[in-house]
Amino acid sequence: MFKKRTLTDLDRRILKEKFPTTYEEQIKKVENGYPIQYLIGDVPFFNVQIKVNENVLIPRFETEYLVEKVLKKVKNYQNEPLKLIDICTGSGCIAIAMAKNTNFICTGVDISESALEVAKENAKLNEVSLQWKQMDILTEPLEEDYDIIISNPPYIAFHETVDNSTSYEPQIALFAEEDGTIFYRKILETIQNKPKLIAFEIGEKEGERVKKMAQEKFPNAKITIEQDLNSCDRYLLIERKQ
Ligand code: GLN
Repeated sequence: MFKKRTLTDLDRRILKEKFPTTYEEQIKKVENGYPIQYLIGDVPFFNVQIKVNENVLIPRFETEYLVEKVLKKVKNYQNEPLKLIDICTGSGCIAIAMAKNTNFICTGVDISESALEVAKENAKLNEVSLQWKQMDILTEPLEEDYDIIISNPPYIAFHETVDNSTSYEPQIALFAEEDGTIFYRKILETIQNKPKLIAFEIGEKEGERVKKMAQEKFPNAKITIEQDLNSCDRYLLIERKQ
């Protein structure tokens, strides 16, 4: 059954300020499930600010935690000009946060031109310079080797039930074939070198399946499934042994 969303006083105040003449309409929209982030227009993400619209997925807390984990892992070499790629970059949140907090040469790729437009604006907004490329990772190979690969790809299986509010987000950013795991398989297949670190955000039921794929590709790497703040399996980290 559909349940109306309750807005906080702060939400109401922000909407009133942003939409002085139409705020009552906007409040109704949000009560009926429309994401308030799209109305406000940007969200804080780690230590950057990310503009969002209906062309991009709204960055999640779990993804901020992925960035935090990766930054901890790369601490010893974060000042080196290593090459990083964020695959399925969407709003660019991961790539931009990594560019802001390291000296890595960062690239973000996505299938969606309109998402890349947002990502480019976000890079400007946060005063970082990155490379962006439109590509379909399911059909096109990576043309270069990268030291660090990060991806929060679409990972929801088509049969899974999801929150109502996600219906306003780009569906190609959410759902994926092969019970949600096709992107991990394709990304692993296209890697030609042995990156220092590969960090995936994964669906909570996908850990063992993705781990097996990673073990087959990188039998000598250290591969760990890690949990999010709700204790759900949420990350797969593949680290090259020195
Ligand atoms: N990488 C972006 C994010 O983490 C977009 C993810 C996606 O579109 N699946 O928010």
